[in-house]
Amino acid sequence: MSFSITSFLLLMLSIAAPGIAGYAWQRRSLPGALPLSLMGVSLAVWSCGYAMELSSLTLSTALWWVRLEYVGIVSAPVAWLWFAAEYTDSFTWLNRRRVWLLGIVPVLTMVMMLTNDVHRLFWQSIILSRNGFLTVFDSTLGLWFWVHTAYSYLCLLAGTFFIIRFIWRTPRRFHRQISALILAVAAPLIGNVIYLSGSSPWGKLDLTPFAFTVSLAMLAWNLFRLRMFEIRPIARDLVLQSMNDGIMAVDENGWVVEVNRAAAALIGLPPTQIVGKRARDILARWPEMVERYREVREAAEEVEVAVGTERRWFDVRILPIFDARRTYRGRLFVWRDISAERRFRAELQRNNERLLAVQQELIAARDAAEAGNRVKSAFLAHMSHEIRTPLTAIAGYCHLLETGIERQSLAQTRADLEAIRVATGHLLDLANNVLEMAQIESGQTTLHEAAFDVAEIVHDVTAAVRPLLRRNRNRLVVVGTDAVGVVQGDAAKVRQVLLNLVSNAAKFTTDGEVEVGVVCEVAEEDRLRLRFWVRDTGKGIAPERMATLFAPFAIAEEDIGREQRGAGLGLAISQRYCRLMGGELTIESAPGSGTLAAFWMPVRAAQVAVAEVSHQI
Ligand code: ADP
Repeated sequence: MSFSITSFLLLMLSIAAPGIAGYAWQRRSLPGALPLSLMGVSLAVWSCGYAMELSSLTLSTALWWVRLEYVGIVSAPVAWLWFAAEYTDSFTWLNRRRVWLLGIVPVLTMVMMLTNDVHRLFWQSIILSRNGFLTVFDSTLGLWFWVHTAYSYLCLLAGTFFIIRFIWRTPRRFHRQISALILAVAAPLIGNVIYLSGSSPWGKLDLTPFAFTVSLAMLAWNLFRLRMFEIRPIARDLVLQSMNDGIMAVDENGWVVEVNRAAAALIGLPPTQIVGKRARDILARWPEMVERYREVREAAEEVEVAVGTERRWFDVRILPIFDARRTYRGRLFVWRDISAERRFRAELQRNNERLLAVQQELIAARDAAEAGNRVKSAFLAHMSHEIRTPLTAIAGYCHLLETGIERQSLAQTRADLEAIRVATGHLLDLANNVLEMAQIESGQTTLHEAAFDVAEIVHDVTAAVRPLLRRNRNRLVVVGTDAVGVVQGDAAKVRQVLLNLVSNAAKFTTDGEVEVGVVCEVAEEDRLRLRFWVRDTGKGIAPERMATLFAPFAIAEEDIGREQRGAGLGLAISQRYCRLMGGELTIESAPGSGTLAAFWMPVRAAQVAVAEVSHQI
């Protein structure tokens, strides 16, 4: 076996080719990598077989190497076509499941060749000749050889066609990629033309495996180095598909050109049934949305949309699409489901409002507590005064009586005892009021309902206040008592409230008029309502005083030390009684223009006087 430089080169090829084949095999998931790996193996077998053939001395050894070589020869064009189809994404019918069909003819070729002795359909005769140092296998060709050749060329040309078309479509900026592909396509063609035309400087040496190896290297370079540029669109597509946001591109005529999985899921159709359809047909379930965004080129807003049975919120963005020449080409719709976010936001808002309300309540409670504290301190200061004054009077009169009773007249003694009685009465009132307030505050006060004559109560109260009225030279006017009659309610409390209001009016009015009025009204749902009012023409109440009028123990500064002062509990107790009875007490007043105090409570017509009451109302 002689070993020439050519054989050496071929052997080198048969080493380089498996190298590339192995590299491609490791990356076989990439489109084109698996056929490229097969092509590498084919070329390795081819060139190895060819090298051995050239070095063979006998026909039988050469024949064996030729047979091996043919495994590569028949499979290389198939690998080429497969690669071209997969890499350029052409002829998609030929997927990895069907690709074995391409191998039928090559397998038959191998069978024909191995059984050639029987039928001589592949080679009619075989001759071994010498070409310098090389042993060259020569043959007269049989019919199947031409079938094999035609098939191989068909595969080569089809693959070449796919690649050239791909080159044609590739943007010019990928020029390195294009050059690599052109070289890959051109090399086998040139090699073949030289070989067939017989103009090879190496005589009968077949250049095809060399040429194919150049192709292989170019393709590998292209696939594993330059194609990285092409990953970008793939990566972009991946990003698009993996996004949770719905994305849909619509061209200027309203046709959907792109849609991602999230968008398709929401629309409820597979992407293949959306792309290429009119957006308004696809979105027919949401006519209001179609109408709303028909002409909108740009938008960013939150909208509520019905999806199935529920209502959901979406953040919708619309972006105009312009091409390289700044021409408007369509719109990109991007939407995100923000229902959960909205719910969360609303919940947060509600919580904030609740917190704010609680805060307000706390502030109010704190203010009330502070006000209460202030009032209580003021009360203690006043009360010490209130209690001390009558007690001092009592102690003083007692001392006078003790020391001078023998010397003073009976009338004088009576006057002293009267003074003691008044002071004691005042203390008793005070004690009673404080006790009453404490009872109300602790919720121990109860209502005692009975039938009572309204006119009688008004009469009692006015009679009790008459001395006070007279002292301050006030005129009393009573209105409406005759028209009321007998009702069912807590007479004692009604009397107490009225007494308090009339006494206040008499107390704080001089040389004026006090009007006491009562009316029985039919309120809502035919309920009876007893309403009293006490109007005076007195000094009125300062606006700043109005706010604390019903606060227990609150007394106006100027009233402190007045002869007719109380503990500041009258109105507080009255208001609470009114509320306890289911009614209300209100006071309207302004300094200088008198005071109008009014209160009402629900009552029932007393059994005994139903007829009388109803005709009187
Ligand atoms: P008291 O039991 O000490 O009379 P009230 O609660 O009845 O206390 O009244 C509280 C304060 O309201 C009085 O001290 C007075 O300053 C004011 N006031 C009540 N009624 C009138 C009125 N008719 N005219 C003017 N001031 C009034």
